[in-house]
Amino acid sequence: MLKYYREIAIGVVPVLLLFLLLRGVNIVPFILISLFAAAFLYTAKGGRGNLTAAAGKRSRRANLPAPLSFEQIGGQERAKQELIESLDFLVKQEEIAKLGIRPMKGILLTGPPGTGKTLLAKAAAHYTDSVYMAASGSEFVEMYVGVGAGRVRDLFKDARQKAEKEGKSSAVIFIDEIDVIGGKRDGGQHREYDQTLNQLLTEMDGIHTSESPRILLMAATNRKEMLDSALTRPGRFDRHIGVDLPDKKGRHHILAIHAKNKPLAEGINLEKIAEESFGFSGAQLESVMNEAAIYAMREQSAAIQQSHLSMAIDKVMMGEKTDRESTKEERERVALHELGHAITAELVNPGSVSQVALSPRGQALGYVRHNPQEDRYLYTREFLNNQIMVALGGAAAEELFYGDRSTGSRGDFDTAMSIVRTMVESGLTELGIIDNHMMTPDSWAKVNKSILDELMLRTKGLLQAQRDVFLRSLDILVKEETLSGEQFRKLISEAGSLQSV
Ligand code: ATP
Repeated sequence: MLKYYREIAIGVVPVLLLFLLLRGVNIVPFILISLFAAAFLYTAKGGRGNLTAAAGKRSRRANLPAPLSFEQIGGQERAKQELIESLDFLVKQEEIAKLGIRPMKGILLTGPPGTGKTLLAKAAAHYTDSVYMAASGSEFVEMYVGVGAGRVRDLFKDARQKAEKEGKSSAVIFIDEIDVIGGKRDGGQHREYDQTLNQLLTEMDGIHTSESPRILLMAATNRKEMLDSALTRPGRFDRHIGVDLPDKKGRHHILAIHAKNKPLAEGINLEKIAEESFGFSGAQLESVMNEAAIYAMREQSAAIQQSHLSMAIDKVMMGEKTDRESTKEERERVALHELGHAITAELVNPGSVSQVALSPRGQALGYVRHNPQEDRYLYTREFLNNQIMVALGGAAAEELFYGDRSTGSRGDFDTAMSIVRTMVESGLTELGIIDNHMMTPDSWAKVNKSILDELMLRTKGLLQAQRDVFLRSLDILVKEETLSGEQFRKLISEAGSLQSV
């Protein structure tokens, strides 16, 4: 009966309107209301149709290239291991049914953007020989109540149908940015969001061990704490897997994966690039390899050279070089400022400078790239003092050569003050062990001044003795725009002035 509603309406409504017209009733308001209702229904239905199409398109796209396996994902060994263990529940269905284990319904991947969460979901679909459907949390957001919930229903229905059509026994549904629809329910204004989330919970509760095709829901977020507890409780998203930024070994692995389809020159040292790209995500590393290939093409080089990779790291880290024209005086000031940072860094931590550059990139007019240190989780007072001195080195150099400072030190002072804050909060200052709440703005000002004034004096003292290194490096930097760490250290040792602090 339900499915003939449309036909019944098409037959009954005109007859009714004609009847009212003959009785002399004004039918214009009825027509307007009908038109409005039809437009509303069309929009709501059209919206749902859009998502299904989008999800379908995405999943078709996901099926087109060679299926993605776990070997094609670099680093993330722990996440892969945990995920494979969880997926074995889906693969070994008979065993888990025998032991009465309830089915794995949801796996939540948490971590910063670009670390490979989508790749893991695709590899999971391949590993379990499932169909793959993907959608993003924001695709369920609509202003009309009920539309998002309808889209969730459609997504699960489509996944089941697709699996049946392709003769697969399971489907993996991946929802990126789950926090958009899975945020904590406040019971108030966002009724549409609540309904969408309720529908998702209902669909998850409807997943049974005996069901065929089986559905596994995977979701990704980088704001796990925002999720509603109904979603994260056992029985829903059963497994939480952290997907963190890769360590050096992981970065090397990811770079090697993305280098496979690119010609690398003899003797390229990817390990060095992995070292220099500390803190990069998988997506940024992919971009480094891509940008390096673009630099190679620009220089009409048949293979990617080490210099292309170094330039690509700078581009990904700091942004593209800008065409900002500056005066000769300004360039010299910037060069001395950067050399101030670099010389201080080399004196307090020999071997730490990787490159000094005088090319405007992003917001910076020049920059010093440091060799990454070993991963550290604890810092001593001496280490933090040295970090502050490196940050103050730029301003100290300007004072030494010009007798004043410029606005270029603003960011450096922010860095220095945030280190002072860490020192105070960790009980590493003369204030001793204190509670943060005991600090008034006045006491913060005092402690900042006493630490920064003393370290500024020490920094200036160090740099004063290095005038020769400054002038020789300045000459090269202004002409060549960059000075490598090795060149720089050679200049320092030639000046015979490397002093221990
Ligand atoms: P987001 O949270 O922003 O959606 P994500 O964590 O889902 O990001 P992906 O979409 O999986 O990240 O990764 C983006 C791209 O970065 C991939 O297509 C791939 O090229 C590259 N990438 C990221 N992580 C890895 C990795 N571990 N190994 C290989 N490539 C990676």
